[in-house]
Amino acid sequence: MKTPDILIVGAGPVGMALALALKDSAHRVTLVDARERGAARRDPRVLALSHGTRLTLERLGVWSHLPATPIRHIHVSQQGGFGRTQVDEGDYGVDGLGHVVRAGDLASALDDAIAAAGIALIDGCEAHPDESLAGRVRLVREGATELLDCPLVACAEGGMRADDPAIRVRDYHQHAVICMATPAAPHGHTAYERFTPGGPVALLPCGTDFAVVHTATPARAEALLALDDAAYLAALQTAFGHRLALVAASGRARFPLQLRMRRDPVGERLVWLGNAAQTLHPVAGQGFNLALRDVWALAGRLRDAADPGDAAVLAGYLRERRVDRAGTAGFTDTLVRVFSNDLPPLRAARGLGLLALDLAPPLRHFLAKRMMFGARAWP
Ligand SMILES: Cc1cc2nc3c(=O)[nH]c(=O)nc-3n(C[C@H](O)[C@H](O)[C@H](O)COP(=O)(O)OP(=O)(O)OC[C@H]3O[C@@H](n4cnc5c(N)ncnc54)[C@H](O)[C@@H]3O)c2cc1C
Repeated sequence: MKTPDILIVGAGPVGMALALALKDSAHRVTLVDARERGAARRDPRVLALSHGTRLTLERLGVWSHLPATPIRHIHVSQQGGFGRTQVDEGDYGVDGLGHVVRAGDLASALDDAIAAAGIALIDGCEAHPDESLAGRVRLVREGATELLDCPLVACAEGGMRADDPAIRVRDYHQHAVICMATPAAPHGHTAYERFTPGGPVALLPCGTDFAVVHTATPARAEALLALDDAAYLAALQTAFGHRLALVAASGRARFPLQLRMRRDPVGERLVWLGNAAQTLHPVAGQGFNLALRDVWALAGRLRDAADPGDAAVLAGYLRERRVDRAGTAGFTDTLVRVFSNDLPPLRAARGLGLLALDLAPPLRHFLAKRMMFGARAWP
């Protein structure tokens, strides 16, 4: 392979977004992915994208190709306790507080744009940075191994080893069961987040259905997956409550949930992005949104850099992204830990918190803006 200036490991949505963000730069960019091309198009997840993410995807030229359902209202409540709050798009002068897309559609739109831009993508190729020499990568393809020495390696391989000492791990002992559910009445573009002792249950408007993220203990998730569709529908309705009626549920899949934070997402001629830099609980729908803010900031620094792996360039990127990264991960982590238990004093405090949010517009606006634009969005 011809040595690129920037080698991107992983052609998931994050790696592809970085490649597209660099398409007009002078740097030669190559993407490599261990799977066959197009595998990401089958990702069953559904993503809530913030308003800021929409603006970035517009700049990348993929938004207009993406089937997206706007979220016009967000309703937050807790099972077995008082207090609820609602956020409406009218308060923020935006067309949608966020949008819901299928991760597979997002991958398709990005992959098509990569092909149209003529960016090199090598599939069926595993890449492993070699820790003994900065910028060196070992590529394994069809049984053959090749070494490359690149000015910059951007790792967007979608995961981290839990036993890596460079990683901080918090196991939530929760799994997300995802599926699609059909409401009895039109959803009115409302997204629901309901906190239950077993974990949050989110219903996101997706087309005319809801995309469900149903969090539960690992044992409960196992039991939920074993049910037939009708029995699962009843279990989902019980967990969500009777604020709205659901008439069908299908296509279940499961994801174990942990917080994994790479302490330092920048190394010598190395940068980690997306789930390879931080893997968050999906409670606030922040994983991809945060990753795209990282991608955009990094691309901004790399575009005009003579040497994209220069330590000063990477240090500048790290400084720029520190607050948002720590803030978004901390916010998500706090939300999971405060809301996922059934201790009566905490239940009452949560109720008061939700009530306070409802009665205090500045506090609600603070949260809403954070959800739309990230931790540095205030005021
Ligand atoms: C249930 C659930 C719901 C979620 N909801 C939301 C949401 O509402 N909003 C939101 O913003 N985020 C959400 N997320 C998070 C979001 O899904 C992730 O942030 C995003 O998918 C991460 O993309 P990625 O490109 O980093 O990783 P991936 O999509 O995992 O892509 C990694 C790619 O790297 C390749 N690869 C791996 N190892 C190698 C190697 N050694 N060499 C070459 N290639 C390799 C893989 O084949 C893969 O194609 C959710 C997550 C879950 C689990």
